[in-house]
This record gives sequence, structure tokens and C-alpha cells, in this order.
Amino acid sequence: MNLCSNLPLADPSLPNLGSSYVLSSLKTIHLDGHFNFDNIYHAANDFGNRHHYLPSAILHPKSVSDISSTIKHIFEMGPATELTIAARGHGHSVQGQAQAHRGVVVNMESLQAPKTIVHTGKMPYADVSGGELWINILHESLKHGLAPKSWTDYLHLTVGGTLSNAGISGQAFRHGPQINNVYQLEVVTGKGDIITCSETQNADLFYGVLGGLGQFGIITRARISLEPAPKMVKWIRVLYSEFSIFSKDQEHLISFKNSFDYIEGFVIINRTGLLNTWRSSFNPGEPLQASQFNSDGRTLYCLEMAKYFNPDETHIVNQVIESLLSELSYIPSTLFLSEVPYVDFLDRVHVSEIKLRAKGLWEVPHPWLNLLIPKSRIHDFAKEVFGNILRDTGNGPILIYPVNKSKWNNRTSLVTPQEDIFYLVAFLSSAVPSSTGTDGLEHILTQNERILDFCEGARLGMKQYLPHYSTQDKWQAHFGPKWEVFVKRKSTYDPLAILAPGQRIFQKATSFSWSRILA
Ligand code: FAD
Repeated sequence: MNLCSNLPLADPSLPNLGSSYVLSSLKTIHLDGHFNFDNIYHAANDFGNRHHYLPSAILHPKSVSDISSTIKHIFEMGPATELTIAARGHGHSVQGQAQAHRGVVVNMESLQAPKTIVHTGKMPYADVSGGELWINILHESLKHGLAPKSWTDYLHLTVGGTLSNAGISGQAFRHGPQINNVYQLEVVTGKGDIITCSETQNADLFYGVLGGLGQFGIITRARISLEPAPKMVKWIRVLYSEFSIFSKDQEHLISFKNSFDYIEGFVIINRTGLLNTWRSSFNPGEPLQASQFNSDGRTLYCLEMAKYFNPDETHIVNQVIESLLSELSYIPSTLFLSEVPYVDFLDRVHVSEIKLRAKGLWEVPHPWLNLLIPKSRIHDFAKEVFGNILRDTGNGPILIYPVNKSKWNNRTSLVTPQEDIFYLVAFLSSAVPSSTGTDGLEHILTQNERILDFCEGARLGMKQYLPHYSTQDKWQAHFGPKWEVFVKRKSTYDPLAILAPGQRIFQKATSFSWSRILA
């Protein structure tokens, strides 16, 4: 195992408490749950399968006070120890963000309390544990005919994990990301304080934590906004061979109220057989023409749309879809339709997970790259990246879809491009272990670097989503005008920089001064 180091800067003038003393001191904390000091290796891995930082202990909390007591204990030890603490949701980060080298990892899924409670009424919501998986929240809220409004493409992620980033999917153009669909949080800060926060109560902490990369506190409870859940989904795919027409149609669809309920898209480069795999689950609008369609290895752009409905509305929803499709300029023979239950639509990636796991292809390295590109530069980006840097999309899907910034609350810690409309572009690559070819890790990482270099050189105004940087200067550049507030919040809520060390923004330092960082 490659155990990289993210060790803090030690100040030789301060006494350093020995690691065995520190660990045995953890055993003195009164807990409802327990620590594990032996079975810790899985916490040194994540979905990315590239970064491995071994912790000293895993906390399996049974209560919020377990988390608070542990953080307080570490905080009160002060700068004399290197001990840090990382909440681990479902460990689906790709660059060690939920790991803590020689620190304590909090297994958030052990925190079962409070149980998900759904509140019906005019403004329905669910109170959920920060360690709850979105798939479980979906099932629980569906019992009341309700569901959250904004999703990720994959639901086996925790509330705390996605709210620390943003939670973006095809509903974000309308509802904003998941961080915009939360009424209230309970947070344990880096000093061990348990604080309830919302738009009107401790708002600075509330907005700081949303998109805050775990830097200001551990989310132990969240109040998630719900809406009436539909039963069924019309799921539609159409193809384009011109990027400009594809993106124009996408931008058109996100611009008005009665549009589709979900809008995404993806790129297909040099993939002749791909359409055949759809045909098992999607029906062509015009079977004969569709069967004759041949991509000839061209670069294609697939617009993916969904409209929610209940069975008694089938007739009307068909009319609405027909009208919406008539406004689009896709290649006519490439209309593919499917009708699936709402749950199956939302949980669609899990089906792929099961298949990939069966083939041993889920636990491979995932050198993912997620970018937010301003609308005004998306054509430059597409031309260079899809037309020049990438030769094919055989290593995994590349998603691309626009969202409206007006639906995104600018007060959160999330950093986005300046413009009103920007695109999420997600390169979701899987690497074949030990391959040295174009499907190998090195090749994909080099390609990622070329994409990042192009964005920087061409000054696209790109921002990374699920960001990862190796120096504080780069973090500062990422946050731009938000950096000062971010650092101030860190000094207020986690002054010893104990939390989420795997993000590598701040190091638990024994002698750093906040004024130096702000200077
Ligand atoms: P972890 O990886 O466990 O943690 C992520 C970070 O949050 C860490 O820094 C951790 O310390 C911190 N953290 C975890 N829990 C808490 C908490 N309770 N309080 C405070 N901090 C906490 N993202 C999207 O936006 N849209 C998508 O469609 C999407 N699809 C994905 C599909 C797959 C297959 C995968 C693997 C990831 C996808 N993601 C997507 C990315 C995903 O949202 C992030 O990786 C997210 O962090 C994973 O959640 P997790 O529960 O596994 O968090």
C-alpha cells in the first residue's frame, strides 16, 4: 500500500505527545459507540483507489455526543499532537478527501440516530442523519409520497458527503444543487460544539458548511426539502453530431419553467458499438431509421432528458414531450425512449455498479476530473478537448450539461464560474490496473493534466468541482474572492485545523497563524 504522507508541520518548540499516549487517551473517552484500532485498513481507501492514508483509529459513533466528545478531546490536547479527524461518508471520494493519516476516521454510517423522519404538510421535509445514504432517504420519503428535489446521479452516497461538495445532477438547472435544498443542519465544529444552523440561525456556519469540503464541522443531521414524488419517468435520449446545436438545445431546455424535469448529456467519441447497448432498454422512435443509423466513429453528443409523471397523466405528458421535442434539432432517426419507475430512474447507476462489481471492475482506480466551465467558453473547451485532446471515450462516460447559476445560492462555500450559465463536465474514467496503454492510469492522468493545462492557458474561467489541489496557493486561486471568508471561517470553527485533513487545504499546524495565511 502506498501510504502517502499529509503530516502536519511540527513545531519543535512544543512538546509532542507520543502516539501511544495519544491513542490510549482516546480509550478514556466515554462513548455510546466505540473505537476500532485494528480493523482500520478500509479507511485508507476510497472510490478513487489511488490515495491511501492509514488512520490510527476509526470511531463508530452511536450518538452525536460521541463525535462531539472525540473532537473536544482532540481539540483540548491542543497543538501538541498531530491527531486530525475526518468524517467518512460512503468513502466515494476519489482523492483521499475522507482519509486522515494517523488520525481518527469517523464512520458516519454508524450514526443511525436520528432515524429519518418525514414531515408532511405544505413545505414537506425530512430530518436525516448526516451519515444516511440518499437511497435510504428516497425509500423512506416515498412511503409518504414525497422525495427530495435535487439529486446526484448515484444514490449510494451520504448526505454529509454530498452536502460538503454540492450534489449536482440533471435536476440542478431547476432546483440548484443539493446544498440549495437544505433547510437546517446540525454540525459538530472543530472545537466539539454541537450547533444547529440554518438561513436564519448561525447562518455563517450554515453557508460555510454547505460546499465547505468538511472544513468547518461534521454534519450530523440535515433537514432536506421534499416535493411530491412522481411514480414514473419518461426517459429520452437523442443524438447530435454538431456540438453547437447540441449545446444550443440544452441551453434552450434549461431556460424555461415547463421544460423537462431532468436534463443532462454526454459525449461519444469513436465508439461504434455504444448505441447497440442502449437498444436493450430504450426503444427507438423510428425503429427502421434508427436501425440504419451508423455513427461511423463520429463524435456524437447525446442529450438526455426525463419527464416525471403519474400513470393517469400519460396522455398529457406525451403531448408535452412531443411539443418539447419539436423545438429541438437532433438527428431525427436518433430518438430513443424509455419508461421506467421513478425509483429505477434515480437509482440507475446502481445497476451499472452491480454489473461492474460482478466483473471486478468497480474497485479499479478512478482518476475522475469534474469541471465547471462558463457558457461563453464551452465551445472553445469542446473544440480542444473533444476534438483534439481525447481520442475516444472508451475509459468511461463524459457528462456535459448546463445549469442556471440563478438557482444556486452564492452564499455557500461552493465555488462556481462567474457567469449566469455554466456547464458541468465530468470525465468519469476507470483505469485498467497495471495497464500501460491508453486505458491505464498514467495515460488518463496525463490526459487530465492536458485538459487542466488547456483550461488554464486559455483562461476559460473554469472551476474544479470536487476540487483537488496540492498547494495552498492553488486553493487560494480556486476560492478567489471567497478565500478570505473561507479562512476566517476555518479560524472560527476549526482553529486547530483538525477536520477533514484529506482535502489538503489546511494542515494541522502547531504554530501557524491565521493572519499569515490571510496575508
Ligand atoms: P466521502 O467520500 O466519505 O467524504 C467526502 C468529503 O466530505 C470528505 O472530505 C469527508 O471528510 C467529508 N464528509 C463526509 N461526511 C461528512 C459529514 N457528515 N460532515 C462533514 N463532512 C463530511 N457528485 C455529484 O455532485 N453528482 C453526481 O452525480 C455524483 N455521482 C457520483 C457517482 C459515483 C459512482 C461516485 C463514486 C461519486 C459521485 N459523486 C457525485 C461525487 C460524490 O458526491 C462525492 O464524492 C461525495 O463526497 C461522496 O459522498 P460520500 O458520502 O462517499 O463522501
